[in-house]
Amino acid sequence: MIDETLTMIPGPTPVHPRILAALGRPTVSHMAPGFIETLKAALRDFRALCRSGSGQPFIVAGGGTLAMEMALVNTVRAGERVLVLSQGYFGDRFTECAASFGIECDVLRSEWGRAVPPEELAGRLATQSYAAVTITHVDTSTGTAAPVEAYVRLLKGRPEIVILDGVCATGGIDEPSEAWGIDVLLTAPQKAIGAPPGLALCLFSERALARRKALPSVPAFYADIMRWLPIMADPGRYYSTPCVNEIVALGEALRMVHEEGLDARFARHRRLAAAFRAALAALGITLFTHRDCQAATLSVAMLPAGVEDGPFRARAAARGAVLAGGLGPIAGKAFRVGHMGNIGAGEVVATLDAIGGALADAGHRADVGAALAAAASVLGEGDAR
Ligand code: PMP
Repeated sequence: MIDETLTMIPGPTPVHPRILAALGRPTVSHMAPGFIETLKAALRDFRALCRSGSGQPFIVAGGGTLAMEMALVNTVRAGERVLVLSQGYFGDRFTECAASFGIECDVLRSEWGRAVPPEELAGRLATQSYAAVTITHVDTSTGTAAPVEAYVRLLKGRPEIVILDGVCATGGIDEPSEAWGIDVLLTAPQKAIGAPPGLALCLFSERALARRKALPSVPAFYADIMRWLPIMADPGRYYSTPCVNEIVALGEALRMVHEEGLDARFARHRRLAAAFRAALAALGITLFTHRDCQAATLSVAMLPAGVEDGPFRARAAARGAVLAGGLGPIAGKAFRVGHMGNIGAGEVVATLDAIGGALADAGHRADVGAALAAAASVLGEGDAR
């Protein structure tokens, strides 16, 4: 059965037919020369997406959570302390992951919908040092983009390993990992990169790799990067059978990223976000996330008074767009919409149409025409994908 409903949740995002076709190619041996070339290209293209010349990429079957685990267990020992900068559900996940390995945590936690102020980080670093600091670039629960540049300025030249969770950002928001001094950039394919879920992606800096090499062992077998390093440095060997089809699909997605060009792609994400938000405003909908830290990859929007979450999202889905609900303290009060990956003006307009219709069904006065006109005034020619 082919489901024509648009999946406009903040990941997984709609997968472009070119990438789906790559996924559907015959499954070949992981030792096939063609596959080895594809993996090499995917590793190169991933590193280029992270704007790194010297980082070591890892592409491993799993997901974003495995990538978080790989980042922590390969750089921090049990009993050492990390500082977690958390602005929501996925920031908090680092504390759970650390606790599973006996790693101690301090947390600087923002109010939901706001970012941790850099001054708080500065204050903490003035009196304490850590084995690592974790930053969630975009927390998918709150739509909050962290002020990464301000954080890394404070971390420059310090001993802490800097771990950046780019799961809801990579491919949609610039992450110049080398210029920023990021030691581990971890991410996943199913959001702004636009490939299907199923992979953990990490880029380890030379410093992070040296940190792992200095550890006699780590409390992991599958997540130990030293097991994967021989394959990632020189594809064509075996450690654990790679998910051949998903890597071929990721390779195609990364090719599309670079065909579009990084700067153009990030600009498109900013335009789609601005267009979507202009239309939401015209529908009388406000955003949950504070204006100073709204990420370009998703919008977390407040449900208007009197509109019930479950029925509203069911009506939007029936009208062609699947939206996500709020998490934690905003469950039932907000809905979340992804506008990232390989979508364009068509998907944004169809989603707004579904939202406007669902609001009208719920008795909320919604001028869909005005909303679409507001979006159109922001969209550019390149957005018709
Ligand atoms: N970090 C962030 C910011 C995320 O949004 C997610 C998933 N939504 C994860 C980590 C975990 O990724 P996965 O679900 O692929 O394990």
